[in-house]
Amino acid sequence: MLHIFNTLTRTKQEFKPLNAPHVGMYVCGPTVYSDVHLGNCRTFISFDMIYRYLVHLGYKVRYVRNITDAGHLEGDNDEGDDKFAKKAKLEQLEPMEIVQRYTVGFRDVMRQFNTLPPSIEPTATGHIVEQIQMTQTIIDNGLAYEVNGNVYFDVEKFSKTNNYGKLTNRKLEDLLTNTRELNGQDDKRGKLDFALWIKAKPEHLMQWISPWGMGFPGWHIECSAMSRKYLGETFDIHGGGMDLQATHHTNEIAQNIGCCGKDPATYWIHTNMLTVNGARMGKSVGNAFLPHELFSGSHPLLDKGYAPMAVKFFMCQTHYRSTLDFSNDALQASEKAYSRLMEAYVKIENLKTSASSTTNVITIKEGCYAAMNDDFNTSVAIAHLFDAVRFINSVNDGKETITEADKATLLALFNAFVNDVLGINETTQNNDKLLATTDSLINVLIELRNQAKANKDWATSDALRDKIIAAGVQLNDTKEGTKYSIF
Ligand code: AMP
Ligand code: ZN
Repeated sequence: MLHIFNTLTRTKQEFKPLNAPHVGMYVCGPTVYSDVHLGNCRTFISFDMIYRYLVHLGYKVRYVRNITDAGHLEGDNDEGDDKFAKKAKLEQLEPMEIVQRYTVGFRDVMRQFNTLPPSIEPTATGHIVEQIQMTQTIIDNGLAYEVNGNVYFDVEKFSKTNNYGKLTNRKLEDLLTNTRELNGQDDKRGKLDFALWIKAKPEHLMQWISPWGMGFPGWHIECSAMSRKYLGETFDIHGGGMDLQATHHTNEIAQNIGCCGKDPATYWIHTNMLTVNGARMGKSVGNAFLPHELFSGSHPLLDKGYAPMAVKFFMCQTHYRSTLDFSNDALQASEKAYSRLMEAYVKIENLKTSASSTTNVITIKEGCYAAMNDDFNTSVAIAHLFDAVRFINSVNDGKETITEADKATLLALFNAFVNDVLGINETTQNNDKLLATTDSLINVLIELRNQAKANKDWATSDALRDKIIAAGVQLNDTKEGTKYSIF
């Protein structure tokens, strides 16, 4: 039975999906105005593992992870500059060129880390209408107001009937005390009020028409509108890094309740931070490592490069709710452990079997699943896998024995954990790459043969066909073009 630590209730709760076996999961995705750093990757890798484990358990998961590509303002309080516009001006590009570049880069990094693509990856700019509609409904419900083309959420009014600070267990009075006073120029009425819609200055690069004039949405409304659109008014899991808890997610809950009268998610999952010398890795902090700097070893603080799967394994060795400090030493230790794990995995198939086993394999397997069912504790699950590694090596060295049935159990366990749940198998990753390359090469040959046919160069087209077939590829000329199959 799976138990999940729910930030909303601050307890571990048995996972009971609203509509099993279907599960709806929404995770706040990247803001694509610069490269993702390793800290961002940790959060997305953690949710990939959660997604993979739910699928492994048999759930049919609709996993929505958004792309923040609208020109929000810097900071949680709708202040500062539009990050996209700043970057676009700096590089003399269209904001959408910035978006495209970093979206492609993000997907590429996620592929290198062997994470599964989400079921839906909606963008903020593709859902402006939904955000305007939601904002209008919140106004109609009396919980938001318009001033000078800006629309604000009325936190104090909302708090009369709702617990605004419940996600972080904070009282409204404390929040009010700890927030700076409004200055005379503010349009908002209450100091905790936040923007749903922001009036655009004429020079603002990304702006849209709305009932309140030209403007752009606040950051929080995009996730409320998109999660509602694709997962419904209430869904199972909402997640993100724990830095999103206090403002972004708190405001999302207020917006969804303000619009639909319902809490959006049953379980809130927050992942802990990747740190460097104890400080959170962040774009603005200046201590960010980019994935490619790590893979190539080109970062000045690194002794060498590390393979993506070793880095991913390093992350999986720590529970997602603990901080993880990034260092050369820790990475090197993980790299060694990862190799030991994978070497043992390869050995399983060739182990000699005997009439009895000297180690209880079922206990190891149960330990792995019990750890995962205890709030996705990959750290403990991996420790159990290492009990299996020691046993495998010992059987391989002729010091212990294993039965045929236990060997099959171990193989299934490693297949499940290495390939499906953690997704750390370099070989499967390479196989995928190999298949993609083979596909491209076969298509090039088909294209060359078609060109020869079009030129009535029958000698070349026949020679190409014979060579392609001799290489084990069956060609099938159809009305829609030439199809192939490998035999
Ligand atoms: P951003 O692109 O800045 O909106 O961040 C995307 C995701 O990465 C969010 O869920 C953040 O909470 C998460 N994140 C940012 N910094 C870190 C970090 N140092 N460690 C783990 N997650 C992080
Ligand atoms: Zn979000």
